[in-house]
Amino acid sequence: MLEIETFMLGPAVTNAYLVHDPASDACAVIDPAWDGERILATARRRDWRIANIWLTHAHFDHLGGAAAIADGCEPPPPVALHPDDYPLWRAKGGAPLFGYDIDPGPEPTVELAHGQKLHLGEVEFEVRHAPGHTPGHVMFYCAAEGLMFCGDVIFQYGIGRTDMPGGDHQTLMESIRTQVLTLPDKTRLLTGHGSETTVGIERATNPFLQE
Ligand SMILES: [Zn+2]
Ligand SMILES: [Zn+2]
Repeated sequence: MLEIETFMLGPAVTNAYLVHDPASDACAVIDPAWDGERILATARRRDWRIANIWLTHAHFDHLGGAAAIADGCEPPPPVALHPDDYPLWRAKGGAPLFGYDIDPGPEPTVELAHGQKLHLGEVEFEVRHAPGHTPGHVMFYCAAEGLMFCGDVIFQYGIGRTDMPGGDHQTLMESIRTQVLTLPDKTRLLTGHGSETTVGIERATNPFLQE
């Protein structure tokens, strides 16, 4: 059973997730949103060694803490990102558009692709490409644990915004239909902002998904 610490960090109150597999002691940060020192401090207190940084997408509020985490880990954890978001990553995740200057941290070296399998110890995650909010947005689905880290694709009673560069509403809706609603209703959705929800709750109540 994975151990998951959730942090709500930064100017957009973004959820960062510190995920640990006790069986193997493997540990990853999914979306080191902001205040990397706080994520590091929790990892140290729990004696977890961060070995991976996985990004759902390259918006600045999902990676603003990556530099501090890389500085505090030896060796610095490799950063995984879908290549369709590399241009956004190079543009500092759009931070200048919002009046912020951030250090995006180490350059991504793990190229994510749809269908790729990532592992924390023996625990497998499937990479699901879900463009629309950004071109290279991915979600990390763990079938064994019945959960998915879904970034800014879908939220409790909401969906990701598509009015920023690279966003497209129709593409996002298609991603939700094919990559979220195809999963079992009980699948937990650990979102990039706001409260946790499930596929079943959103299928039944999300105002953007009612025909
Ligand atoms: Zn975003
Ligand atoms: Zn976000």
